[in-house]
Amino acid sequence: MNINENISELQYLKGIGPKKAAALKSEGISTYYDLLRYFPKSYIVRNNSNSIANLANQLKMESKLTFHEINLKSINLQSHHQIIGRVINKKMIELNARKKILKLEITDESKAKCDIVFFNRVQFFDKLYKIGQFLFVSGIASTDRYSIVKFIHPDIEIIDEEEIELYQKDGIVPKYKMSETFNKNFITQNNIRNAIIQIISKNLVTLNENLPYHIIDKYQLLSIDKTFKTLHFPDSISELEKAQFRMKFEEILLFELALISLRNVQKQIEKGLVIPKNTERVVKLYKKLPFKLTNDQIEAIKDIFMDFQSGKPMNRLLQGDVGSGKTLVAIFTMLAAIDSGYQVAIMAPTELLADQHQKTMNNFLKDFGINVALLVSSLNSKYRREVLEKISSGKANIICGTHSLFQSSVQFNKLAYIVIDEQHKFGVNQRAEFWKIARKSHFGKEIYPHVLVMSATPIPRTLSMTLYGDLDVSIIREKPANRKPIKTRVVFDQNRLQVYDFIREQIKQGRQCYYVFPMVEKSDKLELKAATEFKEHLEKDIFPEFKVGLLHGQMLGYEKDDSMLDFLNRKFDILVSTVIIEVGIDVPNATIMVIENAERFGLAQLHQLRGRVGRSENQSYCFLFTKNEYQFQISQTKVDISDHKAAIVRLKAMELTNDGFEISEIDLQLRGPGNILGQRQSGLPDFQFIDLVNDGDIISRTRRIAEEILQLDPHLNLEENNLLKKALQQYVKDRDNYYRIA
Ligand code: ADP
Ligand code: MG
Repeated sequence: MNINENISELQYLKGIGPKKAAALKSEGISTYYDLLRYFPKSYIVRNNSNSIANLANQLKMESKLTFHEINLKSINLQSHHQIIGRVINKKMIELNARKKILKLEITDESKAKCDIVFFNRVQFFDKLYKIGQFLFVSGIASTDRYSIVKFIHPDIEIIDEEEIELYQKDGIVPKYKMSETFNKNFITQNNIRNAIIQIISKNLVTLNENLPYHIIDKYQLLSIDKTFKTLHFPDSISELEKAQFRMKFEEILLFELALISLRNVQKQIEKGLVIPKNTERVVKLYKKLPFKLTNDQIEAIKDIFMDFQSGKPMNRLLQGDVGSGKTLVAIFTMLAAIDSGYQVAIMAPTELLADQHQKTMNNFLKDFGINVALLVSSLNSKYRREVLEKISSGKANIICGTHSLFQSSVQFNKLAYIVIDEQHKFGVNQRAEFWKIARKSHFGKEIYPHVLVMSATPIPRTLSMTLYGDLDVSIIREKPANRKPIKTRVVFDQNRLQVYDFIREQIKQGRQCYYVFPMVEKSDKLELKAATEFKEHLEKDIFPEFKVGLLHGQMLGYEKDDSMLDFLNRKFDILVSTVIIEVGIDVPNATIMVIENAERFGLAQLHQLRGRVGRSENQSYCFLFTKNEYQFQISQTKVDISDHKAAIVRLKAMELTNDGFEISEIDLQLRGPGNILGQRQSGLPDFQFIDLVNDGDIISRTRRIAEEILQLDPHLNLEENNLLKKALQQYVKDRDNYYRIA
């Protein structure tokens, strides 16, 4: 092995040397530039305002707020407090023969005192912290009734002797992420800071400006040199914000430019089928409809018709809460394609849903002379052959199916329009796959079908702008006029009898009830036993006059389907379910949703479950049972995602709003983007500066700027956009997976 492999130029920096340079290299930092790009993970702002005395005051004020004064959207989840102080006292307190706690007392120039308490590993912490040490403490603080600030098991950093002065001065101190390797090789915060100071002061790196002057000037951005320097050593918070803004701006600008140019390229090369709007059968359905379309449905239909006439293939996302009437939008627009002599297909995530689609279509289109075929994998081979033949001959106008629609054995006949329902169940980037199959159906002609993806998972604006940046979006926010908002209540054990009475009343009036009983047991057998027992309890002890069905996790897919169908056909009044009830199944007569242990579910899940009711003109209700002790905490203010109060926020949010978009915004705040989208959609771009939770404004503003730039200079060929073009090429090259043209 060549020993030089481990050597990097960083070894020449004072305080680094060969050993630390090798350690940095093993973490991917091997050049001056790499280190300069190793930006702080956070900053400590030193001034009077975060003295212990001030923190005590601040905490006193916060505890006066009540829950209801908080706007749910603005819940501050990063309620971390930071202080710096010197250890003046240390006590080991014996609670009983086996339990000890450790208490550190620290103070700062404000002369107020603060306690740090440890319950676990007290011997370890006792050895670690000594009187006289300076500690940087960060965590969630509270005050006791004597207004003493208290931290329990906070993050603590012992400050280097030589750095104390730096921390004591007013100013902003950068904090870098320390890895295990750093610690093992004695690389300290101080080391990194000093190394970066050397790189900057000796001008060891020449930074390339990516943004053209006219943009820097127009949007008053900091130059790249100033930006880097400020990120490491900001003079003030406002400077720091400017530097961060510049990085975010550049990052999102390149992202949007790449996305928009990709789309422009696609639009140039692709030819779409032109389909006229308001054809005969569209008008017929419109006249026949027993209710009025909502304005949002009309807007969505108009959007799609515009796309149909544009001569370009449509790539549109239709978002709308469960029950908002997306299917009908699909049906209207499908009719236009069929009237123009084309075939259309709609794909659902499960066979049962595909089946329901076929029934819905047949229902709406009874005397329309339209043939609706169903293609799912469970068909027997004879019947399957017949269906395949109907599809390839063009006799079938609409084909409902699951993913098996797009197997190579299926030969479509002039397939012009593909609708994908419950899009979140599929991967994001399957359009390429559909295109291939659809193009085959036009007898070799280079034709791209129109694609509409429908999703009932409301996606926060920032996420849909980035994740679906290459799709056009229509949104249905408005519920059909006959729907009443679902009434939701958080309930506790002592409300049980009242809730049961309420359910009884409703069922007597002819309604049905979903009863979700999430499982705790580790073993399948125990789980099934608990669920069965609970069902029997409801059946025998609580509702002897009603029929109770069961849907549990051990059932096979078709058994679950059967159970749902029995419920739909009113064979039961109450359906006890241990699992999340499949998305999209419509039992309009079910108007009550009861969820036990509701604190176990995430917001999106709760919202989705609740969406099973509220599907008819009857008033619907949702009861969220949760732990007794939560009722005493519901008035508290502080929310930390890691503790049970996050569960309270979720339940409270459910009481306050029925709007899926509002709920998804809260969910985004609580869980972050990756978790919201789930694994299947974690095709999120690798942003370093942009925060998808909070940077919605920057994202949308910059998107408009990117559009403007490309409108004036579609290929960035103008002299003034030279830098930008180069940066964009590099950006796309670095991410060719993400921007692969389908
Ligand atoms: P989604 O697919 O968005 O969850 P659906 O399209 O299944 O919702 O619609 C739910 C129910 O509402 C269906 O029974 C549908 O016929 C009905 N519906 C759709 N649009 C309207 C409307 N404008 N007014 C009244 N009912 C409607
Ligand atoms: Mg649907």
